Amino acid sequence: MEVGLDPSIPTYSGGLGILAGDTLRSAADLGVSMVGVTLLHRKGYFRQHLDARGNQTESPDLWNPEDILEPMEPRATVTIEGRQVRVQAWRYDIHGLSGHRVPVYFLDTALPENTPWDQTLTDHLYGGDDHYRLCQEVVLGMGGMGMLSALGLKDRMIYHLNEGHSALLALSLLESRRQGGGFSDPIEAEVEAVRRQCVFTTHTPVPAGHDQFPWELVEQVLGRDRAALLESSQCCVDMSLNMTYLALRFARYINGVAMRHGEISLGMFPGYPIDAITNGVHAVTWTSPPFADLFNQHISEWRQDNFYLRYAVGISLHEIQQAHGQAKKELLKEVERRSGVQLSENVLTIGFARRATTYKRPDLLFSDLDRLRGLARQVGPIQVIYGGKAHPQDEGGKEMIRRVFQAAATLGEAVRVVYLENYNMALGKILYAGVDLWLNTPLRPREASGTSGMKAALNGVPSLSVLDGWWVEGHVEHVTGWAIGDDSESPGDYFHDAASLYDKLERIILPLYYGKPEAYAKVRRAAIALNGSFFNTQRMVSQYVTNAYFPFEENSPN
Ligand SMILES: *Cc1c(COP(=O)(O)O)cnc(C)c1O
Repeated sequence: MEVGLDPSIPTYSGGLGILAGDTLRSAADLGVSMVGVTLLHRKGYFRQHLDARGNQTESPDLWNPEDILEPMEPRATVTIEGRQVRVQAWRYDIHGLSGHRVPVYFLDTALPENTPWDQTLTDHLYGGDDHYRLCQEVVLGMGGMGMLSALGLKDRMIYHLNEGHSALLALSLLESRRQGGGFSDPIEAEVEAVRRQCVFTTHTPVPAGHDQFPWELVEQVLGRDRAALLESSQCCVDMSLNMTYLALRFARYINGVAMRHGEISLGMFPGYPIDAITNGVHAVTWTSPPFADLFNQHISEWRQDNFYLRYAVGISLHEIQQAHGQAKKELLKEVERRSGVQLSENVLTIGFARRATTYKRPDLLFSDLDRLRGLARQVGPIQVIYGGKAHPQDEGGKEMIRRVFQAAATLGEAVRVVYLENYNMALGKILYAGVDLWLNTPLRPREASGTSGMKAALNGVPSLSVLDGWWVEGHVEHVTGWAIGDDSESPGDYFHDAASLYDKLERIILPLYYGKPEAYAKVRRAAIALNGSFFNTQRMVSQYVTNAYFPFEENSPN
């Protein structure tokens, strides 16, 4: 449903889309033959505006696909509420390091032969109501399938459903097997044949992240025959169509996006064999220019082969400090340009940017302002840079932003806090590299993976994070960063986690940063060598190839 390819293409909202883009980039680098399919989203996700109190308003993020993408001739057609809706595709080519090309097709319904309403179906990412979303998912899954056919790309395909949004693709596959046979009960053999072609990745343990549509709506949009076919293939839970169950039912390989998330997903969806492949980030995209220069000098192979980042252990601490100093300067310049606020180069700078939503708890750092003031005064000064958009309908998320603004106002000069508007790929890239510490405070176990900390690690920025998602694997205490709280079975407790966060800052991180800068640089270097070398999409895509797309089979003739 979303892909983050370039800051000038605003068709993503957060981690899910950035991961899709990074996956496609690494597939291109590795020479994997892959195409991406997504929606055009002519009005983007949205542009965020924040007033002086942190109240968020939104406006469309308009862009001109015509300037960036190439229109394709073939058309596909989907049936929505009995209407024939025509679909066009626009192509964007990703060129891998050795020239291999991975095309991405953006589906578009803004064609004059469609009704005015149908023309809006590919306007807004995560906009509108359930009805709009289900129609979009018909365009994405069934229109996507039709477009691949029209482009002559249907043969010998393996379909990777990245999240449940595209799961109606399975319905198209099932129908094309049953052509001529009408819509009677699905034969288990046909379901099995569809399953052999599909791989499904689930991305969140948060229930609201799994689309469900009431049955009347499904019948209205898809028609009774198709609804009946879905019903008989057992994808309905509580009289609604659950897109995750649809994908689970039709996939031969299923995975979560970090080891811990795999375990949690097994508990959420009992009876399904759920594996785990831990997320990564595209190393070349997310490494800042100063560190890219440094790696080019010492380990020039790192672009072709991200495992070489392991040899960052041989780079001198002095050079690591220098490269980070440059990235920090760039960030502080950008902060001043955007906000007018001048932060200090000599102060420990904490970064926190992510979708503003309640479970990510951006206010945890401010739960005890006296304690925060006290440690900044007595142990060493702190400044904080925030960013993040709340979904327009997420009132809790919007409240989180206001709380950060309130805390900033209350703290004043004691701890400077800046909230930057309109967090996106471009701002992220500067932010992950330029801060000294990347803060991550989700309520366990809701963070399936998280990837921003991986981008920070590539740039020698250690994380201070709750032990959830990828950090369970990437964390080596005091070597690659620091943990907030522990890894026990019970979910995180707000005040317990806050106390741990303050303890780590007060007793370990601030004394290290101000008292032993060489030792702090050692943590930077280990973050690159241990985490940068592993938590990248080059390793991740290789794992998808060997474990999901072309698994070893006992009975294979080879
Ligand atoms: C990497 C990235 C994210 C995802 O980061 P999380 O750690 O999962 O929150 C979100 N938004 C942007 C713009 C990113 O670059």
